Amino acid sequence: MNVSADLSADVIVIGSGVGGLTAAALLQERGISTLVFEKNRYAGGSCSSFQREGYRFDAGASVFYGFGDNSSSGTLNLHTRIFRKLDIEVLTIFDPVQIHYHLPGGFSLPASYNQQAFLDALAARFPHESDGIRKFYHELTEVYDILSALPAGSLEDVTHLLSVGAAHPLKTMALALKSFRSMGKTARSYIKDEELLHFIDIEAYSWAVQDALATPLVNASICLADRHFGGINYPIGGSGAIPDGLCKGIRKFGGRICYQSEVTEILVSNGEARGVRLADGTEYYAKAVISNATVWDTFNRLVIDSRYRVDEKRFLRAPSWFQLFLGVDASVIPEGFHMHHILVDDWKSYNQLGGTIYFSAPTILDPSLAPPGRHIVHAFVTGEVEEWQHYERGSSAYLAAKDEVAAGIIFRIERILPGLSKAVKLKVLATPLTHERYLNRFKGSYGPLLKPGQSILQKPQNTTPIKNLFAVGDSTFPGQGVIAVTYSGVSCASLIARKFGKPLDPLV
Ligand SMILES: Cc1cc2nc3c(=O)[nH]c(=O)nc-3n(C[C@H](O)[C@H](O)[C@H](O)COP(=O)(O)OP(=O)(O)OC[C@H]3O[C@@H](n4cnc5c(N)ncnc54)[C@H](O)[C@@H]3O)c2cc1C
Repeated sequence: MNVSADLSADVIVIGSGVGGLTAAALLQERGISTLVFEKNRYAGGSCSSFQREGYRFDAGASVFYGFGDNSSSGTLNLHTRIFRKLDIEVLTIFDPVQIHYHLPGGFSLPASYNQQAFLDALAARFPHESDGIRKFYHELTEVYDILSALPAGSLEDVTHLLSVGAAHPLKTMALALKSFRSMGKTARSYIKDEELLHFIDIEAYSWAVQDALATPLVNASICLADRHFGGINYPIGGSGAIPDGLCKGIRKFGGRICYQSEVTEILVSNGEARGVRLADGTEYYAKAVISNATVWDTFNRLVIDSRYRVDEKRFLRAPSWFQLFLGVDASVIPEGFHMHHILVDDWKSYNQLGGTIYFSAPTILDPSLAPPGRHIVHAFVTGEVEEWQHYERGSSAYLAAKDEVAAGIIFRIERILPGLSKAVKLKVLATPLTHERYLNRFKGSYGPLLKPGQSILQKPQNTTPIKNLFAVGDSTFPGQGVIAVTYSGVSCASLIARKFGKPLDPLV
């Protein structure tokens, strides 16, 4: 790589989402200097926390994988291994249930950590499919076993691929074959019951925002098997504890994070990224630039050269969200209530805008997130910018429209939490416009999705058409979710570190 005299750092990172921070922390720990620019006053993007009137809310993510103890579970446990490498402590609380599903026809099922209990409960509802249920979930576990035996690294790093292939030839071959399978097709090879296939769909939709047919088997195996091995663990202090821990790691090894610093342009000359320009016009130079922005924002906003434009339709664009952050009287949460819930009223509309309600009460696990005598209820449904962009932000019409949507969602949740509307003490509402603004994401989208039938290997990797410009985050392999973007950060850091002649040590 060329070294120019006025470098600000070896690597500049645009955005402090978990993907960007993971890459920066691992590079910095390896002695490769990093400089992170974040538009907001805080780190974490969709995995940040924010405070309001004594409550600490999760801005987005709240179901977390990757914090297991690898001595007992033998899984990927990426967060555990990364924080061990950085020697930073992020304390978590074990969550015995990933999600409690409330589905049409009175079908209610908690997806417990205990896999046998989960499979038994599912088989009790569908006794005629008990064999198919076991075979399908067994196949997910098999794929997961293969994945968790292979060290994390970049699929573009030939040295890494050759060493993994040589050390685990059969597992690598098996995984390559499975990467072309979809979760839905696999389910249909074992299961015929329509209602059960709907359940398999919501298992995919709960994190992929796509049905099972459109969801790669490999991705499904990570989420739906790891919940029974590494388990679900919630960071004490809320989701923001993850980016905060990564920022501590970056600073501990000498890296820098600049807040309120929006990158407006990636400086490219002769097909090579040289640095960035901020909104105030200052320019910074580096040997490599990593973008944590979405693929559309990176190539249609930050790279000026139109030859690199990415058509909106090249990927399916996932919708955005309408979110409710509620402070509620504690009495509305019954004894023994689980933290995470998914509510579907009608299978016909579960995948339509607003059809599925996700809600969680993180104060069940960490009461310090709310004032005494109060709980948090965090709920969200899919939404689109187009539904909201005709409103002027802050106008009374906008506020009234937000209140109306929120009231409808609260009314539906009252089926599970009777009396919720009367228990609300604080209400903060976010529309897709809020997501677009705060997360700097094109149309506030959850990110690009694969089209049905596409293999997970068709997801963009860390390299880009521009030399020395790399990408991390949910636009890249493997996709959406905090553990997935963490993987993208690990693979990007390992690729760049090898290019710099300082390969990363394996994460143990
Ligand atoms: C409502 C909701 C619920 C979710 N629930 C879960 C869950 O329970 N479990 C789970 O695992 N995942 C969940 N997710 C998904 C998960 O949060 C995301 O996939 C993941 O956090 C995205 O990380 P990222 O690295 O792609 O960056 P992002 O979170 O998108 O962060 C990017 C950062 O870059 C900054 N940035 C962008 N452009 C610029 C620029 N030009 N200059 C400077 N800064 C810039 C942004 O301000 C932002 O801080 C949820 C997401 C949402 C929205």
